[in-house]
Amino acid sequence: MRKGAQYLKALDDDRYVFVHGARTKKIAQHPAFRGIAATLAKLYDTAADPAQGMQYLAPETGEPANRVFAIPRSREDLATRRAAILKWARLTHGLVGRSPDHVGSFLAGFASHSAFFDGGARGFGANVKNFYKKLLSEDLYLSYVIIPPQIDRSKTASTQEEAFLQAGVVKERDDGIVIRGAQMLGTGAAVSDWLFVSCIVPQQPGDEPYANTFVLPVSTPGLKLYCRPPYALHKERVYDYPLSTRFDESDALAVFDDVFVPWEQVFVYRDLEKVRAQFFATPAHVLGNNQAQIRFTAKIQFLVGLARKIAAANGVDKIPGVIEKLGELASLASVVEGMELASEAASTLDPRGVARPNERFLYGAMGLQAELYPRALQALRELAGGGPLQVPSSVVDLEHPEAGADLRRYIRSPGSPAEEKIKLFKLAWDLIGTEFGGRHLQYEMFYAGAPFVAKGYAFRNYGYEQATQLVDAALNDYNMESAVNGKQ
Ligand SMILES: Cc1cc2nc3c(=O)[nH]c(=O)nc-3n(C[C@H](O)[C@H](O)[C@H](O)COP(=O)(O)OP(=O)(O)OC[C@H]3O[C@@H](n4cnc5c(N)ncnc54)[C@H](O)[C@@H]3O)c2cc1C
Repeated sequence: MRKGAQYLKALDDDRYVFVHGARTKKIAQHPAFRGIAATLAKLYDTAADPAQGMQYLAPETGEPANRVFAIPRSREDLATRRAAILKWARLTHGLVGRSPDHVGSFLAGFASHSAFFDGGARGFGANVKNFYKKLLSEDLYLSYVIIPPQIDRSKTASTQEEAFLQAGVVKERDDGIVIRGAQMLGTGAAVSDWLFVSCIVPQQPGDEPYANTFVLPVSTPGLKLYCRPPYALHKERVYDYPLSTRFDESDALAVFDDVFVPWEQVFVYRDLEKVRAQFFATPAHVLGNNQAQIRFTAKIQFLVGLARKIAAANGVDKIPGVIEKLGELASLASVVEGMELASEAASTLDPRGVARPNERFLYGAMGLQAELYPRALQALRELAGGGPLQVPSSVVDLEHPEAGADLRRYIRSPGSPAEEKIKLFKLAWDLIGTEFGGRHLQYEMFYAGAPFVAKGYAFRNYGYEQATQLVDAALNDYNMESAVNGKQ
């Protein structure tokens, strides 16, 4: 099992990561990325420690591997996988959305039905299986870009103003394909080992050059990552920005400047039908999003804890209105956790013996997420009041003799000194008020597609037969002649 130090060393390659006007070198030491890189190293160290119970003997390789990447074959497997995912999520309070277990879960889903990728002129099933084994034995961190760049959403790739705005095959060679164009949005790409590239949005005839799925090392020549502003920059002390400094996984536009991808790394090639169906005909989408819901459970529980502690710190936690607000938050968190557990309890085995989390509960929770998370955050914001803004500009202010004395006198709660109160309120602000917090709101609303997409999943996976039968039965129970006393 890979150790954190090995993960960090692997980042020191020739990857093209562009930020603030320059291409960065030595990612693991760069102020924008060193915090998140250290966090990911901690995840790897935790998984590599046998005492943490995150390892299992992978049947595909016959070697120990990280449980988060396992193909679940029973409800019990789903539960042990959940425990491993949760262990990692707790280390980041659920604030690293694209930790290695996210895309790793998609790949487990693909590998469990690798025959899906066979057929056509070239069969790619063996590539999928081999890459999954590589993921297991090398404990790889994959990020993904599966959305076309946001240019004109009323058109698909082949009808945009220019060809190859969306990443597509510009040339086929005997030994592989050449990719040109761009894809969004590579969360964690700058600090991951490999990138998974595909297209999850619907395509139409004519888009064949863009209907591909492949993987490539982040250091592949011609692959460029253009990062949004990093939130860890210019923040020296963890105490002041405890989340921004350690959990900013970064997001990047991925540009493919005629990137060569060998056939062994290709899973789908110029196939409109397969590129769409791969996520749903295999358990990839349910397993990937089950991981996301386990992670989200950790995050919303953390938010509940923050709200409770803030209310207590300000001495308002016994007021009926505040209890009602805390209760509302508790309800929201319970819905998330309950739906996640329900999807596991009501899981089913697919024809290949893979345990699939129940789609009704999984997608039902996802369909609500774009309203649920903002509502939870709003409750925390309301409870915090002006507290997060009466904190000093930096922990160094507390070290100043005169300022420190003033701040210690006036920023406090009964039984809690200034250092503790400021620490709590700065933590809360990093979730509700900083750029990091704002980006997290956007993340929870969009990571699985725009809200209308997530609700579409809920619609398609609810299973309306029973519900409509209930209404039919009710309608059949009376007719135009039925009287109130039951007599016709
Ligand atoms: C923080 C963050 C991290 C992300 N990380 C990743 C990642 O790691 N990998 C990855 O591949 N992607 C990632 N994404 C991208 C994410 O998948 C997309 O944001 C999502 O699919 C929505 O696409 P879009 O942003 O282009 O929004 P659009 O499709 O442009 O939609 C924006 C809005 O336009 C309206 N709209 C657009 N089309 C319709 C329609 N047909 N019907 C009704 N309304 C419509 C809706 O109001 C919608 O909310 C991330 C996004 C965010 C915000």
